[in-house]
Amino acid sequence: MSCCDVTGLRSITDALTLMRQCSPATTQVIERDLYSANGDVLAEDVISTINVPPADNSAMDGYALNVVGCKPTTLFTIVATVLAGQIYCDTLKSGECVRIMTGAVIPQGTSCVVMQERANRHENTVSFEDTFDEGAHIRRMGEDIAIGNVILEKGCVLGPAQLGVLASIGQGSVSVYRPLKIAVFATGDELQPAGAPLQAGNIYESNRIVCLSKLSNLGCDVIDYGIIKDCPIAIKRALDEASKQCDVIITSGGVSVGEADYVKDVLSEHGNIDFWKLAIKPGKPFAFGQYKQATFFGLPGNPVATYVTLDMLTIPTLKKMAGHKVVEPMQLQAKSLSRMTKSAGRVEFQRGTVQCDGQQLTVHTSKKQGSHMMTSLTDSNAYIVLENEQTTVNIGDTIQVLLYTNII
Ligand code: AMP
Ligand code: MG
Repeated sequence: MSCCDVTGLRSITDALTLMRQCSPATTQVIERDLYSANGDVLAEDVISTINVPPADNSAMDGYALNVVGCKPTTLFTIVATVLAGQIYCDTLKSGECVRIMTGAVIPQGTSCVVMQERANRHENTVSFEDTFDEGAHIRRMGEDIAIGNVILEKGCVLGPAQLGVLASIGQGSVSVYRPLKIAVFATGDELQPAGAPLQAGNIYESNRIVCLSKLSNLGCDVIDYGIIKDCPIAIKRALDEASKQCDVIITSGGVSVGEADYVKDVLSEHGNIDFWKLAIKPGKPFAFGQYKQATFFGLPGNPVATYVTLDMLTIPTLKKMAGHKVVEPMQLQAKSLSRMTKSAGRVEFQRGTVQCDGQQLTVHTSKKQGSHMMTSLTDSNAYIVLENEQTTVNIGDTIQVLLYTNII
């Protein structure tokens, strides 16, 4: 897997293409109860076997009338009341009506529904201050979904709207791909878990919770392997164990060129892994390949670099593995309110805030851009994507932005 530019850096596009090519797509299909399928990926097209609505029904609380031969002044006879869930079995005759509630099935012979606010009722008769428009306030059978319609396609992610549509055609279970099982661990002697007093020389570990929560939002089954010391034996033991249990292993830290970067040593010896210097900032060191049966992603240790390489490389590859129809996140254009400079040669993902000033989107960059500064992510709502060769952005320039909410 070689092919870097003269600087020895690999472009993000090239890395992503290779990763998608080299990672296995899941094929195992399971049947999932609808109420447990949030975040799952459809393994087949869903074709409706019913019409939605299943019958013509009222869009209003009011009166369903037969107006054939009637005048606007006609006094209609109320022959029944039909609540939602009930059916009037006779056919309405000219000059007859039923009191009807929203969602109740429209009786045979109905010309239109008139809302109750336009009705003047006198015991068993009613007149109307309205015109009688043929078909008014009637929801037609199958107007949302008709029998035979493909309502959702294979590879679609089931969220609230998709699950609602499945429920509306009465589907109690659904065929989905088995979610990827992913082991996550952090490496580093200096790392301490949140919740205990901080020892001198240490920092609190934050990459694991970021990975675990992003991946579970993606619909993956995640297993937390904790913090592993910078010790080749401990790293190998964790990798061996994780590769038996999981489809994917994701680590952070230890893939750079430091003296304690043992993840790299263990992987070089026992895995089939490439170590890349990516043309991306933050996030230069990155490892990808196979460790025994598992697909391996080695993320850089700096927290913002972990975050960016998860979003830009790891999650897009995992989506392909999990069976998603590959949909690239939508980039938008915004007018820059900040002046920015960068060196040529790496794509930069600065953190910024996108707003709408009435006519157009604007963006300003966050002050803190260091790859160790996690607050740059909480103080912003988007990546500002600065291309490889770009060196300066002036105030007023149009630039590309990627809203965080568009990523998963
Ligand atoms: P490394 O890639 O292991 O050389 O780590 C690069 C930088 O990221 C160092 O300053 C580490 O202390 C920091 N770092 C590594 N892993 C984590 C983590 N899980 N949480 C917070 N900081 C980390
Ligand atoms: Mg380290």
